[in-house]
Amino acid sequence: MEKKAKIKIAITIASLAAISILFTRQQRRRRKLNQCSQYSCYLQSEPKPQHNFKRVLADNSYSPFKHANKEKSSGSHPYELEITALLENPRPEFDFSNVDLDLQRSDSFVWVETKSQLNELANALSKEFFFAVDTEQHSLRSFLGFTALIQISTEKEDYLVDTIALHDEISILQPFFADPGVCKVFHGSDNDVMWLQRDFHIYVVNLFDTAKACEVLSKPQKSLAYLLETYCGVATNKFLQREDWRQRPLPAEMLQYAQTDAHYLLYIAKCLVAELKQQGNENSYCPDDKFNFVLEASRRSNTVCLQVYTKEIESYPGEAAASSIFFRLLNGQGGVSSISSVTQDLVRRLCAWRDLMARVHDESLRFVLSDQAIIALANKAPANPTDVYTTIAQADSDVDCLNLSSSLPSPSPVVCSHLDDVERQVCNNVENLDDILLANLQKCLGPNGSCPLSVFNYVLPAKSNWELKNQSNKFVYKQNGVKVSRQVAKKASRDLFVQKFSCKSPVYHNCRIYANDGRLLCYCDRKKLEWYLTRDLAKLVEDNPPAIMLLFEPKGRPEDEGNEFYIQSKKNICVSCGEGNHYLRYRIIPSCYRIHFPEQLKSHRSHDIVLLCVDCHEVAHAAAEKYKKQISAEFGIPLFIHKVADSRKAEARPGFSASITNFEAGVSPLQLRTAAMALLHHGPTMPSNRREELRRIVMRYYGGREISQEDLERALLVGMSPRERRRHAKKRGLSLKMSKPTDFPDRQQDSYPAVMVESATMDATKADNVLGLHAIETQKSGEKEGRSSLTESHESKPPTCSNGGIDQLVFSTIWKKMNSTSKVSDSKDDSVGNVDDECENSSVQNGFGSSSPTPNSKVSLLGHGPHGKQVVDYLLREYGEDGIRQFCQRWRQVFVEALHPHFLPAGWDVMHRYNALLLHILSRIML
Ligand code: AMP
Ligand code: MN
Ligand code: ZN
Repeated sequence: MEKKAKIKIAITIASLAAISILFTRQQRRRRKLNQCSQYSCYLQSEPKPQHNFKRVLADNSYSPFKHANKEKSSGSHPYELEITALLENPRPEFDFSNVDLDLQRSDSFVWVETKSQLNELANALSKEFFFAVDTEQHSLRSFLGFTALIQISTEKEDYLVDTIALHDEISILQPFFADPGVCKVFHGSDNDVMWLQRDFHIYVVNLFDTAKACEVLSKPQKSLAYLLETYCGVATNKFLQREDWRQRPLPAEMLQYAQTDAHYLLYIAKCLVAELKQQGNENSYCPDDKFNFVLEASRRSNTVCLQVYTKEIESYPGEAAASSIFFRLLNGQGGVSSISSVTQDLVRRLCAWRDLMARVHDESLRFVLSDQAIIALANKAPANPTDVYTTIAQADSDVDCLNLSSSLPSPSPVVCSHLDDVERQVCNNVENLDDILLANLQKCLGPNGSCPLSVFNYVLPAKSNWELKNQSNKFVYKQNGVKVSRQVAKKASRDLFVQKFSCKSPVYHNCRIYANDGRLLCYCDRKKLEWYLTRDLAKLVEDNPPAIMLLFEPKGRPEDEGNEFYIQSKKNICVSCGEGNHYLRYRIIPSCYRIHFPEQLKSHRSHDIVLLCVDCHEVAHAAAEKYKKQISAEFGIPLFIHKVADSRKAEARPGFSASITNFEAGVSPLQLRTAAMALLHHGPTMPSNRREELRRIVMRYYGGREISQEDLERALLVGMSPRERRRHAKKRGLSLKMSKPTDFPDRQQDSYPAVMVESATMDATKADNVLGLHAIETQKSGEKEGRSSLTESHESKPPTCSNGGIDQLVFSTIWKKMNSTSKVSDSKDDSVGNVDDECENSSVQNGFGSSSPTPNSKVSLLGHGPHGKQVVDYLLREYGEDGIRQFCQRWRQVFVEALHPHFLPAGWDVMHRYNALLLHILSRIML
């Protein structure tokens, strides 16, 4: 009786405490939001198509463009050798004479916007010896511009490739463009060639440019419109080239224009080549040299290919634009000195600000602020934001009246959402320009930055190197500046991390499942509901949020009465600080242990997977890593596998003794992998002593025997989990297609005596028994999508042998030395797994009767997997399942102590699954 009363009081206190904490937290968050919205940037509400690009090759930072790396390329152009070869010895492939080209224009074309359609195009191109190409760009709402459309025409078909939708996939067309055996026909290719490099690392090798052919033939005009009219009798409206090519769907008129631009090129090329040959015949002094004109056209064309895309590098942001404005202000007269230094300074400041803003927002300079507006601002030096606004609007409308061309918003949205910065730029002539720019950058992309981060601007803070320029008197500042910009950079990359890895949609859907007697069983996600519904195992009883009632008696009910944990809805917020904008799943029991738990203990996972914001995630993870070390010391089980050795050869040659020196048996899996990787990728080019060193490492795995290329490839797989192997195989499949494997050099030269170390064999069996790791790679792995698992092995399956190429792994572990230098933790796996592991989704809230075995494709020797396995086995052996339960409690305690979480769901407790309500309440009061 008394006890009950006490409990009641405790509950009341606990609830009050929880409510007050919740309240103050929410207040604080609301206040923060209000502050932010003051500085909100127009981009927050105006998504641009390029923001869906996952990767851009040319970002808006001030660093130079990185070209594709290609083996054997010496200069800056990856295909310099191939192109030079063509220049010196052109192929006579410009012979289109036997080509059956259809002048008849058909209205049909193939619109390519999905990956599979792109693959079909690639397949079609693989059968062609020439094709025509044109591209359309968008440059107004982008800093460097991007390719919005690629038109490709073959003899049979016209393709319009949506390079916005397929921006990250287009690179599969690279080989066709780079193939010297395939002729590409362009018209006026100078820009297209650069754009293709910039956006897709597509390099054109073997080009026939119809405009160059016109030059060689001394045609009166060399525009495409002229050629279309003279050769094909087709009129085209070239004004369409200035249209906004980002539009989707593209208007019929633009589609037709785009198709026309490429469709006739093959036919025109055929006509021009015929003329070139004829001219060659007529003019040549040497009758043998009849391809002279053709060759000249080819040479001129391929010279275009040799150009490389570069970003313009200025010694100061906006410098070139400022010079051109000075020139215009002076109308070509006098010198810069005749402009007042105040005006000069203002123009420079405004140009620099415009440059930075254009990069931050991925807009063109002219979209951010027109030259005439800069001149007006510099002349007038407006004193307040309203003045700034009207000055710009006036300057732009004056010019608009004159040439009626521009329909750009003035002032631009960039200026409007950063008006106070423009004013500061104009008014403040005390502050150093560097300081102002850095402050601007910080305000836009720094902590609580006003502008969205994107693949275009996140590198900007890291690479804003202008502050390192020639400012001899600013030493103190420079140090400061670098420090600030590093902080900004750190924050920017963190924000991008949040954007990329945090959960994209609410984790908890809060759907409900009722038993057939109407009792609430649990909350879960939609997938789970659908599973029951599609099998007619349940009926829908409520719509929003949906709820179902089971039509059968469930095997399990929420076992412990009074545990409200499973029967409450969950909030999509960080359980520690309440952050609701970004969060990812966090496993309180690290997966290196959890995956080895017996099935019946694993199924309660939902309790131990919580949502944490990125910052709290980091704190919790660090605490867990620290505690792992403690566990490792306490149990005497190292965190990493120290040595692995190949068992196959060990068994094959049993007679050897370990007397041979110089060869330590076994090698750490990580070291082995790194060495094999380096040898495979850079073996032929690395210094021979380094190669030797690495070879010896790999040889240690193979018991000291001579190693082959195949051995190296096998070594790469050692220690990988099945999942990692799948990924590896996939990657290799791709790279094999792209390049022929190079032979491993000097095989004879470095011959080592074949050495066998006995201890490897001994340790092998011993380790096998200790670790019980036979089944790491089972034959089933292929059939079951590689989901072989250690957890299956306790269903008393016999350990399976290796499947052909991959050996069974054997481990020898050296217990004494703790290898604390190997820095591969499963931390990444944890956080990434939290994010992309779809199969975990449905189990987050599933508190009852889940019976499907968890696929375990994560056991990797390169992480803490083996350590986890040993710890769990030890606990089970010594203490049984209770040992595991206590172990879980320890981890929950670690979690609670690291974060002092305020938003854990009611019913969550460290002692979970023990009837310890009181303890739970006390622990909450303590928080
Ligand atoms: P074209 O080679 O005619 O297909 O043009 C390719 C791209 O260059 C177009 O999509 C435009 O982005 C750009 N472009 C070409 N000429 C002009 C121009 N006169 N004004 C603006 N943009 C142009
Ligand atoms: Mn075009
Ligand atoms: Zn902004």
